[in-house]
Amino acid sequence: MGKASQQKIDLVSKRKRDDDMIGFEEDPSPMADQPLPMLEIEQPHPESQDEGLHANEPITFRGVEFLQRDPGLRPQIWQHPPEQRDSVRRAYLMLGPMQPELQTYKPSGEKGHQRRFQYKWFDNFQKWLEYSEDKHRAYCLYCFVSSKNENRRGGSHVFTVDGFDSWNRINSGKHCAFLTHMGSGPCSPHNNAFTDGQALLNQSCHIKTIMAVKDKEKVERNRLRLKVSIATVKWLALQSCAFRGYDERPESKNKGNFLEMVELLAEFNPDIAKCVLANAPYGSKYTSPEIQKEILSIFACKIRNHIREEIGDSKFSILVDETCDVAKREQMALVLRFADKGGILQERFFDLIHVANTRSLTLKDKLSFALTNPGFDIQNLRGQGYDGASNMRGDLNGLQALLLQECPYAYYVHCYAHRLQLALVDASKEVVSISQFFQKLIYIINTVDSSSKRHDQLHQAQLVELENAIANANIET
Ligand SMILES: [Zn+2]
Repeated sequence: MGKASQQKIDLVSKRKRDDDMIGFEEDPSPMADQPLPMLEIEQPHPESQDEGLHANEPITFRGVEFLQRDPGLRPQIWQHPPEQRDSVRRAYLMLGPMQPELQTYKPSGEKGHQRRFQYKWFDNFQKWLEYSEDKHRAYCLYCFVSSKNENRRGGSHVFTVDGFDSWNRINSGKHCAFLTHMGSGPCSPHNNAFTDGQALLNQSCHIKTIMAVKDKEKVERNRLRLKVSIATVKWLALQSCAFRGYDERPESKNKGNFLEMVELLAEFNPDIAKCVLANAPYGSKYTSPEIQKEILSIFACKIRNHIREEIGDSKFSILVDETCDVAKREQMALVLRFADKGGILQERFFDLIHVANTRSLTLKDKLSFALTNPGFDIQNLRGQGYDGASNMRGDLNGLQALLLQECPYAYYVHCYAHRLQLALVDASKEVVSISQFFQKLIYIINTVDSSSKRHDQLHQAQLVELENAIANANIET
């Protein structure tokens, strides 16, 4: 007989065995008819179950308590969504192999030569051998868990999908089918699957876990570093301190308020010390002038939003004055006045706007932008208060006239503080005694301030006067 003929006969006999097995499966055991309370995964109909396992139907992993334990009924790993497969694998490995102890195991094989599964086999292959009460076949836990290929190839799915029931091939010799499945070399498919499974179980060594822990630490360090910068900006802004230093190099003795404050915080907190300045990765120190300005502008934006919410759609007035900063840049200070919900008058400093020049048109454009950008309606403007400069109060082209064109109710009021100052200056010129008072006051200030000794003498004289006033009960303590 030729080799080809022999193969043909083998194929026929194999098909016959398969047919027998299918017939065997079509005779459902009492166990198969029972509902499975633990199973909430949608299962195919028992008759089409075998096809269902290979149908690639997506199955969502909802937790270890919902897993199908029976090796003959459970869906294959590849039927789960890729991102859940490791979780499913880990869950099955943690549950361990399914090794039910039955009174009698169902026999299989040809009549007269039938054999049964034996419980004692679990002792010899404790780690991986599984038995399906539904299919009455043996499976391998680790090969099932590591199985990735959904295409059947040869007998590679015997212990994962089909199940093994040729009990007559189980013996104490070296040709025992279980030993054959395990393979002799350390790199046999089963042994590889076992190693992979152990690595997956050992979470602390798992590369994904290590990466996740490292990523989490990195994120926490970055957050802490940013928090330090934010807290420093907040403190310096609240105390009206300068941020920058003249020399901010690492070797400088005074690197400016911002960097010195970060160093101070690091000195008292080891967690901060580990992640700021020299210990921060290059490119994410969060201490550059740009970052400082960005954090500051975020604070400013939040405060402006808060004021915007406070005012809402109420009517409001504006107070504007021009001023120069230390760098001689022309700036326009904007203050908003409004009545709060309780009807109490409130004033809020809103913005400091750099202007290229003090022409009324320039001021008007900048002012309109500063008000409309946060969403104020210019039609709600009910008052404007400026000094008496012509670019501000001018009836034709002054800032107030330009704003009146947009909102006819925005009445201009010459600022009372400015008017008081003008009145005092005029009065001091006209009334001799007031004029003399201011002249002498200036003389006293100049005389006392130029000498620390005189300053102390004045201070001493004030103390004596205060004691006398208390003794004469002119002042209440
Ligand atoms: Zn195996």
